[in-house]
Amino acid sequence: MLIFRKPIEGIDRPQMEADVVIVGGGPSGMACALRLSQLIDRHNQRHPDAQISKENIYLLEKAREVGQHCLSGALLDPRSMDELLPGWRSEAPIEAEVTHEDVYFLTEKKEYRLPITPPPLRDHGNFVISINRFVKWLGEKVEQAGITVFTGFAGSELLFNENRVVGVRTDDKGVDKHNQQKSNFEPGYELKSKITILAEGTRGSLTKQLVGRFNLDQHRNPQVYGVGVKELWEVPSGRIRKGQVVYTMGWPLTTKEYGGSWIYGAKDNIVSMGFVTGLDYADPRLDPHHVLQDFKQHPFIAHLLDGGKMIRYGAKSLPYGGWYSMPPLGGNGWMIVGDSAGFLNSQRLKGIHLAIKSGMLAAETAFEALLENNFTDEKLKQFKDRVDASWIRDELYEVRNFHQGFENGLVHGLLHTALQQITGGRGLHEVYTTHAGHRRLQHLNQLPEDGGKRAHMLGQARGDGKLTFDKLTDLYHSGTRHEEDQPSHLVIHDTNICNTRCVQEFGNPCQNFCPANVYEMVEAADVPHGRQIHLNPSNCVHCKTCDIMDPYEIITWVPPEGGGGPNYDGM
Ligand code: SF4
Repeated sequence: MLIFRKPIEGIDRPQMEADVVIVGGGPSGMACALRLSQLIDRHNQRHPDAQISKENIYLLEKAREVGQHCLSGALLDPRSMDELLPGWRSEAPIEAEVTHEDVYFLTEKKEYRLPITPPPLRDHGNFVISINRFVKWLGEKVEQAGITVFTGFAGSELLFNENRVVGVRTDDKGVDKHNQQKSNFEPGYELKSKITILAEGTRGSLTKQLVGRFNLDQHRNPQVYGVGVKELWEVPSGRIRKGQVVYTMGWPLTTKEYGGSWIYGAKDNIVSMGFVTGLDYADPRLDPHHVLQDFKQHPFIAHLLDGGKMIRYGAKSLPYGGWYSMPPLGGNGWMIVGDSAGFLNSQRLKGIHLAIKSGMLAAETAFEALLENNFTDEKLKQFKDRVDASWIRDELYEVRNFHQGFENGLVHGLLHTALQQITGGRGLHEVYTTHAGHRRLQHLNQLPEDGGKRAHMLGQARGDGKLTFDKLTDLYHSGTRHEEDQPSHLVIHDTNICNTRCVQEFGNPCQNFCPANVYEMVEAADVPHGRQIHLNPSNCVHCKTCDIMDPYEIITWVPPEGGGGPNYDGM
């Protein structure tokens, strides 16, 4: 029987008082902590008799080490880093400065280079980075600045006092598969905080709790997502220049699915490559990991990788919805930053600079709140005013309808994009509406049995072990590790639906959309269709795709015991 993780009731949890708790140590959380520290330092220098302490500012990171769960392409637009840490370029881990970029359209066997690189994809002046190394470096800066970073601690639950967020409960440690305390049991902390800043990344679990409790998604476009599946390759020298950037559209996707690839040349003949598939496709048999394996078999890509070696693997979802999908950014005792709020420019395929800037603006709001001892709705809502007055709004408002324009496929999307370009992002309407991606999955009986034009990317890839890989082989290269004896952190609210309705209606798409082989349908005698859901939670790379794409919305991703997860070293 599947046992799912849930809070252990009736125990005393240690309490800690905090001024600010930042949940999540990615780019936005780290930038928030660093900016807050800078503002406090400046204030304390100017007002030696009215010091503000940093002692009660904490950052929680669920990974064992800072940066381990961070995954991105990654290309960094330096704008926000120049504001946060002038002079950062001389000391930050940078792989390469972009020197050359190309965009290709792929058919199954041919590639066509666009004669002009569309302006949003011109990357001169940007930097190829490993987001893992970059965040690790930022984390060192945060600790040197005197902010306490707790690694291996996940935020499991928000603490409320009526309509106010009053802190976070961290994960209980030492809980066995049956949700019982082990001999090494340690209850989570109740961090009672004046301000809680959610910087959890895409589809944050606490952010989801907050959005649900206060209906923060009302009167907004639903958030839509993509999942990026990435491999790091070491290739023979001369295949790609350091600082070379290639984007592709088209194959293996058909004109009905949204997505594309990136290929970045880093130093030492390392290639960062991956494929983002929009999580709003129609065929539940489509497998985003399989899409990447198909992509690598294109002659253009196979030549690049020939004789090379895949060295790392990972996957992560990203928010595509843009300006009109963002929830309110601040309220009674809370703010939301980075990917958790949807700060991503899907037209430019970039979000790190926006995540950093959003963290900085939240820090400025938090600093003022601390000065005034005012943590109310009115005060923390000023974070949104700051965003509106910043270049974030200029950048995101111009592409406010971009992804939604592709709702009916590539051809419509390109036409809408052209129209939006000449109308300052408006296009045909001020707000293009959209549907949540999982609602676009069709029942199997509405789709061609043989898959039609999509047949090549349906079901799991087998892999040849050289150029292409099955999920388990790839997964091995993600460094994923969890405590085995713990309840499942993938909570399925009604497994009967998996074993009955979903088998027939969608063919259990969790087996396909999960890039880590967590979900399997295994033979069983006492269920109607002879197969039942089985989970391998230890495989989970924390991409959140299942929480997003499950057609019945019965899967909830909750944090496993802190410290578990992938190890995206160098990714
Ligand atoms: Fe991603 Fe969910 Fe699979 Fe974990 S179980 S790897 S979050 S799809």
